[in-house]
Amino acid sequence: MLQDYMKGPGTKAVHAGQSPDPTTGARSTPIYQTTSYVFRDTEHAANLFGLKELGNIYTRIMNPTTDVLEKRVAAIESGVAGLAHASGSAAVTNSILNICRSGDHIVSVSQLYGGTYNLFHYTLPKLGIDVSFVDADDPEAFRRAIRPNTKLLFGETIGNPRLNIFPFEEVVAIAREAELPLLIDNTAAPLICKPIDWGANIVIHSTTKYIGGHGTSIGGMVVDGGNFNWGNGKFPDFTEPDPSYHGLVHWDAFQAFEPFGGINVAYIMKMRLQLLRDMGACMSPMNAFLFLQGLETLHLRIERHCENARRTAEFLTSHDKVAWVNYPGLKDNHSHKAAAKYLGGTFGPLLGFGIKGGHEAGRRFIENLQLFSHLANIGDAKSLAIHPASTTHSQLTPDEQITTGVTDDFVRLALGIEDFEDIRADMEQALNQA
Ligand code: PLP
Repeated sequence: MLQDYMKGPGTKAVHAGQSPDPTTGARSTPIYQTTSYVFRDTEHAANLFGLKELGNIYTRIMNPTTDVLEKRVAAIESGVAGLAHASGSAAVTNSILNICRSGDHIVSVSQLYGGTYNLFHYTLPKLGIDVSFVDADDPEAFRRAIRPNTKLLFGETIGNPRLNIFPFEEVVAIAREAELPLLIDNTAAPLICKPIDWGANIVIHSTTKYIGGHGTSIGGMVVDGGNFNWGNGKFPDFTEPDPSYHGLVHWDAFQAFEPFGGINVAYIMKMRLQLLRDMGACMSPMNAFLFLQGLETLHLRIERHCENARRTAEFLTSHDKVAWVNYPGLKDNHSHKAAAKYLGGTFGPLLGFGIKGGHEAGRRFIENLQLFSHLANIGDAKSLAIHPASTTHSQLTPDEQITTGVTDDFVRLALGIEDFEDIRADMEQALNQA
């Protein structure tokens, strides 16, 4: 059986979730660019709507191209099922809304991607969901912040942009003791870190980044680890009848769901049936196809991204125009120990540094780069540079910038997969003009 030969992460990234199309023999996953699907007969239609049979109804809720992507990302993340979204931000938002209602509380690291920080700091409180921010370097702060109405703990594997590595072991122990799920945004570390293997319950990706890999499409994914007991009495939305789905009790229906082989898919099924149906932030089939293309080379690309980051850090550390380098691979880095433990033998694809001469020198450096692109993204095959204080994090107050780890002289690099000698030469000339 194919499954017997799909043990390695690279093989899963190429094959999981797909076999050649039975109708046409197409080897590549076809793009099912359709909104809806013809029912065989009235009984088939009723069975699909009544969840007696799983199948395609309407592309807002499921699509055969997107289905392959969901299965493949779930496979590389050691999860039981995935749910694709229109963007990483939509995936983060729905991952929270699937658990919390007005009056609830969550605990999150403060060192977050700026968009997620804004969501947590401004938008969720408007919906009645309170957020406590804690320092990722102080795992016990999670325990101290938990309240009776806390519903989840949230972190990023590689904090964007401070590059702190999430202390999985410590926080998983706290989450288990408190019987709360741990949600991890693994956007910056696909394949090199598997949060579910470390005990996380839900994994989120902006597939826009390394999974897509070429800066072509916006998308997101939520993966269910199938390893959390939503029936523990803290989550009424899982254990009380859902009036929007003819009284369905999600935990009863999906904690050991037969069509998935009798496993716990309650979180992802509820998310699909309620939130994708109601909020409609689905991925387009075309984008799902592009993400599948990206996934097929992810294991090769991520190695080169990380290797180029390592060599860049070495180069910058010895350069006299550079004030400091933040790269988890450096032995004296605040994240070195955790990165060595959690990043699968790499130290990640990102690094930050400060140029002597501060803000002005940083601006001249960025403007003189030729090979690097100056833009707000990570995870492209092309090398990217940005000055977060004046761009991605500029909507934050100076205090918030410091909380999220952004300083005025900070330049962030997301190394691409070009030949390192060209990367080095471009940085050298731009530094010399800074
Ligand atoms: N999570 C992280 C860690 C990110 O870096 C980003 C985007 O930069 C997002 C989520 C949001 O993803 P998207 O831009 O696909 O909405």
